Amino acid sequence: DAFVVSAGCWSPELVRPLGLKLPIYPVKGYSITVPLSEPGRAPVSTIHDDNFKVVSTRLGNRLRATGFVELADFNRDIPGARIATIKKSVQSRFPGCANLDDAETWTGFRPMTPDGPAIIGRGPRDNLFLNTGHGTFGWTLSAGSAAVIAQVIDGEEPAVQLDAFRPGRFSE
Ligand SMILES: Cc1cc2nc3c(=O)[nH]c(=O)nc-3n(C[C@H](O)[C@H](O)[C@H](O)COP(=O)(O)OP(=O)(O)OC[C@H]3O[C@@H](n4cnc5c(N)ncnc54)[C@H](O)[C@@H]3O)c2cc1C
Repeated sequence: DAFVVSAGCWSPELVRPLGLKLPIYPVKGYSITVPLSEPGRAPVSTIHDDNFKVVSTRLGNRLRATGFVELADFNRDIPGARIATIKKSVQSRFPGCANLDDAETWTGFRPMTPDGPAIIGRGPRDNLFLNTGHGTFGWTLSAGSAAVIAQVIDGEEPAVQLDAFRPGRFSE
């Protein structure tokens, strides 16, 4: 009865046949995840290293460090130099917490809108809803956004004001 588009950076392609233009661009970042060998040397909470622009966070017995904001379309290459910078940050802030040679590497895309807020609300069809474009904060906002779009689908008053998130704002 109701379709919710939540395809991140791929949402524009998905709705293009409907004549709907969503300005969502993939903004690339990288991470490493590594088991802790000396947990006492690792952060217990999230630490933002402003020198290297790298964020390190604790995931149980592992540490995850992320960084970089790149416009590279959907290129999934993981250059060694990027990973080296992230490792340098971890090594300088939390020396000896892990064997960084054991780190898993990853790259992904933040679905960014030009003005920042996600795109949440009713689309240009009776049964079409949008919950996409969450940019840097998709994990943080996931549960709240899901609750709010469910309220919109049910015709209820959303728990938060959705003006800043309205899908039509880019063509006004
Ligand atoms: C390096 C990095 C660090 C980040 N750190 C944080 C953080 O600390 N906190 C935070 O809140 N957020 C963070 N984010 C952002 C977060 O990852 C994104 O905002 C979030 O993943 C967006 O979720 P999504 O479900 O909208 O899109 P995605 O996670 O991109 O998922 C979209 C899914 O749709 C699928 N799909 C595409 N086309 C179709 C189709 N036609 N049919 C069916 N499925 C389809 C794709 O395969 C994909 O699985 C980070 C992102 C990066 C890159």
